[in-house]
Amino acid sequence: MQELTQAEMRVWIWEAAAVIDKNSALLCDLDAAIGDGDHGANMTRGFAAVLKKLEGGAVAGDLGAFFKTIGMTLLSTVGGAAGPLYGGFFLELGKQSAGRTSLDGPSLAVLIEAGLADIKRRGKAEPGDKTMVDALVPAVEAMKAAGGDLAAVTRAGAEAARLAATNTAPLQARKGRASYLGERSIGHQDPGANSAALLLESLARICSA
Ligand code: ADP
Ligand code: MG
Ligand code: MG
Repeated sequence: MQELTQAEMRVWIWEAAAVIDKNSALLCDLDAAIGDGDHGANMTRGFAAVLKKLEGGAVAGDLGAFFKTIGMTLLSTVGGAAGPLYGGFFLELGKQSAGRTSLDGPSLAVLIEAGLADIKRRGKAEPGDKTMVDALVPAVEAMKAAGGDLAAVTRAGAEAARLAATNTAPLQARKGRASYLGERSIGHQDPGANSAALLLESLARICSA
């Protein structure tokens, strides 16, 4: 696959929703250890609402309109800390892809980078704070460094995100609910870093199919 159009992005969102649903209990367990145990449920509810919104057919217009629809839906259904962050991420993807109907590997990397910048702007988290930012920062770096085709770019991003999500375990949380635990947050992986890895892994799978 050379370029992603809305048709392929829809396959990604369906795949992501299925993977989030399948891993909902795992995400809730991770969140139960250092938060309030609802991250899997929040994400599953949000993506189910997105599928409902999209099931009628293609969103009219460019990729901007498509991502905006997803962002608005996540914003109004996920809740908690992750809702505004993932909602804002997709809204930013929408802003940055306005006027475009397809994306190649390098432009996808730049788009995800813009989405990450929005998450950092809203949440004020930096790498090392034990949040989804820890998975997304190395993922964006790897995607940009990989260059080339969509399969290579997205695989690099997914692998970096997964490794980084695993590596959040020894960190002490400095943002979000988990930060209330102080040192007791050490020794558990961050749930949001794991959901971010799941989203990028599903993207890599559809780009390699
Ligand atoms: P809540 O904590 O409100 O119950 P969730 O459980 O759905 O919300 O989401 C928790 C996840 O949100 C955390 O694992 C972390 O990755 C992410 N998160 C929380 N606060 C921030 C922040 N300020 N910046 C980035 N990510 C954050
Ligand atoms: Mg929670
Ligand atoms: Mg909550």
